[in-house]
Amino acid sequence: MAVAQETFQELRQALLADLDPEVAALLGRELERQRGQIELIASENFTWPSVLEGQASVPTNKYAEGYPGRRYYGGCEVVDEIEQLAIDRAKALFDAEHANVQPHAGAQTNMAVYFSCLQPGDTILAMRLDHGGHLTHGLKVNFSGRLYDIATYGVDRETNLIDFDEVARVAHERRPKLIVCGGSAYSRAIEADRFREIADEVGALLLCDMAHFAGLVAAGLLPNPTPHCDFVTSTTHKTLAGPRSGFILCREEHALAVDKAVFPGMQGGPLEHTIAAKATCFKIAASAGFRAYQTQVRANADALADSLVDGGLDLLTGGTDTHLVQVDLRRGDWTGKDAEERLHEVKITANRNTVPFDERPPTVASGLRLGTPAVTMRGFQEQDLHEVGSVICEALADDADLGPLAQRSRALCERNPLYPGFRGYATYAA
Ligand SMILES: *Cc1c(COP(=O)(O)O)cnc(C)c1O
Repeated sequence: MAVAQETFQELRQALLADLDPEVAALLGRELERQRGQIELIASENFTWPSVLEGQASVPTNKYAEGYPGRRYYGGCEVVDEIEQLAIDRAKALFDAEHANVQPHAGAQTNMAVYFSCLQPGDTILAMRLDHGGHLTHGLKVNFSGRLYDIATYGVDRETNLIDFDEVARVAHERRPKLIVCGGSAYSRAIEADRFREIADEVGALLLCDMAHFAGLVAAGLLPNPTPHCDFVTSTTHKTLAGPRSGFILCREEHALAVDKAVFPGMQGGPLEHTIAAKATCFKIAASAGFRAYQTQVRANADALADSLVDGGLDLLTGGTDTHLVQVDLRRGDWTGKDAEERLHEVKITANRNTVPFDERPPTVASGLRLGTPAVTMRGFQEQDLHEVGSVICEALADDADLGPLAQRSRALCERNPLYPGFRGYATYAA
């Protein structure tokens, strides 16, 4: 095999496929895996080719500790403009007073907000993880649960909607310094205005973690939490469809503390190539095309919900306001884990999830969390989601014949090709 890595000169010129066929083959296989299955993991998406280009770009070579105009390194004149563009676009998109686009991912956004306004031992009030929160909202083994005193609220046992009486009661009892709303597995709109009222009653700061639904907010399909919150955090790679990363929005009065918490508080050099890709993601998210995409994400989530209910499955809250649908398997024999594995056999990728008041451990769980951002990105429409829903329901039947079901999934994928222009594992690979 001609592997061009014998000399320094060869190393400087070699592209991946020649230099490292092993990794190149794995990347190619991952592209084929993504193309060949129905991706229903609600937190995943297929980003834009333009974003992939930004992420594979040369600012990866640049150190830029600090902020635009205030760096600890020379040569930052261009990355300053990249980062300022990302900041300005994020602020405009969500109507925010301040934006920090340096957090490497969603977890870092929440860590930075906590560091900016809390001392270890301070109380945070957040949604219980098994009711739809996130591990950075106070899981015991996460930094959040180790550093802070965590008070929790959940959903109502009957409606599965956030129990605002409980939020208010616990807030008055525990007097949190920070209230967190938003989560990873809640299929209804987050009413930040109602959380604001409770936060004001007890003198707490308010954070909305819109990691999951930021894309729907950007498109105007869910209410923007920013006017009601001291802080808003988000990923960029879920509904927002950008690079794997995060950003923080906040009121001007918290700007300095948030910036200091991110750097030098918890991160070193920012990933300016990813920040370039975030700038592109924000530009796209402000467009009419993006609004059309998100409108289809919503329509597809409703179509999926309808077809699952028609097929006899239970959904938490009966449906969705967002991109995600939560199947409650408690009435039948399936566990979340077994259902996840069965769907894998028919070329559908999903993840098990606890349902509120679940009696099974999270590794087994009694629910499935399904989302439509990724399939919508590859072109699925309502009739396709009806077909997906019927494949799911038939796959979970006792006498399921899996071969023909996998074939129906494959046919859907073939009708809606992912990254049809890509020749290799990257946008412009030979
Ligand atoms: C996904 C998610 C995060 C964390 O994002 P990572 O990029 O995985 O670190 C934080 N909060 C919520 C609500 C999420 O859904």
